[in-house]
Amino acid sequence: MRSTMQNVPLLTSRLIEYAGTVYPGSEVVTWGADGPRRSSFTDVAKDCRRLANALRTLGVDGDQRIGTFMWNNEEHLELYLGVPAAGAVLHTINIRLFPQQLVYVVNHAEDHVVFVDNSLAQPFAALLDHAPLVQHVVVNGPVPDEVTRALAGGGKRQVHDYRTLLDAQPDTFAWPELDENDGALMCYTSGTTGNPKGVVYSHRSNLLHATFCAGSNALSLNQNARALSIVPLFHANAWGLPYAAMLSGASLVMPDRFLQAEPLVTMIEAEKVTCGGAVPTIMTGVLEYLDAHPEADVSSLGEVIIGGSACPPALMHAFHDRYGVTILHGWGMTETSPLGTVAIAPVGTQGEEYWRYRHSQGRLALHVETRLVGPDGSEQPWDDEAVGEIEVRGPWITGSYYREEDPEKFDDGWLRTGDIGSLTPDGYLTVTDRAKDVIKSGGEWISSIDLENALMGHPAVHEASVVGVPDDKWGERPLAVVVLGEGAVPDVEELRAYLQTRVARWQVPERWAFVTEVPKTSVGKFDKKVLRAAYADGALTV
Ligand code: ADP
Repeated sequence: MRSTMQNVPLLTSRLIEYAGTVYPGSEVVTWGADGPRRSSFTDVAKDCRRLANALRTLGVDGDQRIGTFMWNNEEHLELYLGVPAAGAVLHTINIRLFPQQLVYVVNHAEDHVVFVDNSLAQPFAALLDHAPLVQHVVVNGPVPDEVTRALAGGGKRQVHDYRTLLDAQPDTFAWPELDENDGALMCYTSGTTGNPKGVVYSHRSNLLHATFCAGSNALSLNQNARALSIVPLFHANAWGLPYAAMLSGASLVMPDRFLQAEPLVTMIEAEKVTCGGAVPTIMTGVLEYLDAHPEADVSSLGEVIIGGSACPPALMHAFHDRYGVTILHGWGMTETSPLGTVAIAPVGTQGEEYWRYRHSQGRLALHVETRLVGPDGSEQPWDDEAVGEIEVRGPWITGSYYREEDPEKFDDGWLRTGDIGSLTPDGYLTVTDRAKDVIKSGGEWISSIDLENALMGHPAVHEASVVGVPDDKWGERPLAVVVLGEGAVPDVEELRAYLQTRVARWQVPERWAFVTEVPKTSVGKFDKKVLRAAYADGALTV
């Protein structure tokens, strides 16, 4: 028997109209050099309708791809909402990709129009000569004439100003009735090996994911929340936070290009931020800043979701003990929209048991069906012991890549995440490592994440990344690359002794490098590919 329910599609346009109507008091605050800019959800909705009209004037009448080369700000949010609602597909371009990767993604996605922040317009102009399909460039904010000329490429492209373009349009628009499974947004993976690969999210997948993100098994957003969206929109949709905020009425604070610890703390103080999302390296910087500035008041901050790479338990405890901030550990990837888990501990757990749950990557979301697959292809039990590759499927998990075959990544309808881990009987995931980062030493596996977490618990260590390097006897051995805190001096024996009480003795690295900064990927993760290449021939060995 079929249900009696109406088959009304889940569409982004509904989110715009709903948020703009029922949350007129919620605001979007964009940080700027001259102080914050403010708009209500109602104003944002009006701009989304103006934008949709403007897109039609630029010839966007179907599922053309619209690129954005932008920071997190109000205009980017309007594009994030308005472009899909109008029936086109928003491609958030990772501004930190290498030039040849940028050219690759713009051409691969076939971006027809590109929106660019004025602060990024100059470097972007240089790429456009290699992107023949781009017809229009819309600049957010004023730029000097020579930059406009460079963007126009001798008449090959029309250049527009965002505000002027929108102000010429009415603030009403008849949103199209789309199929909820149509493409809405696309993100490319950061391409650690080979070219970046495109993932296309649908209206349906985004709205389902946002509902989870806003709900009580994740950020528990409501109209009293003020969310700081530190994660860029180009990094897996800012983890769904902007859509989740719009549907729950949570005000959004957008940091634009001010992503250093000091302005972030200023925003938290000034805007009474209650929650946010960031990768661990950003929050490590925020913690260091807070420790050095006891006058800073972040008492409004309740919860921050941290993911993208493993969150060191020491970071969680420092925020909990010193600032009363709950770090919610989350796990996911571009291919999973991205949230797959959030580490909220089960009711009634206390002490060590409670923290074990909090340290894990978290409880699986309803729509992220998961299995663990062992090296022989057999499914592993959820007993908190057995380890296997994590495979997932569900309505916000990609089933393929855009215009690219990659059969290796899929297993009978399941996405192979490339992450190795275990599951508790009650569905909490622990990621031991990425398959490509695990250190294979004499037939045994060493988790680089375990070593990093242990090292980052040492008071002298600011950051630590561990990679496998070739070893004549064992095949591979761990190398620890360490950034010490201010004033600390390298003391390998002390760090080795510290590790010996926390991991098996045979896992303790013999090779050490002390550096002033660990190289980071375009989304702020430790760049292990660069480290492996840099230290293949060894470092300080004891
Ligand atoms: P990229 O693959 O380009 O780095 P993604 O953000 O999509 O970009 O990366 C997803 C990967 O990041 C996951 O497969 C996993 O290896 C890692 N990751 C994400 N969150 C966590 C976490 N909480 N703990 C450990 N690893 C994580």
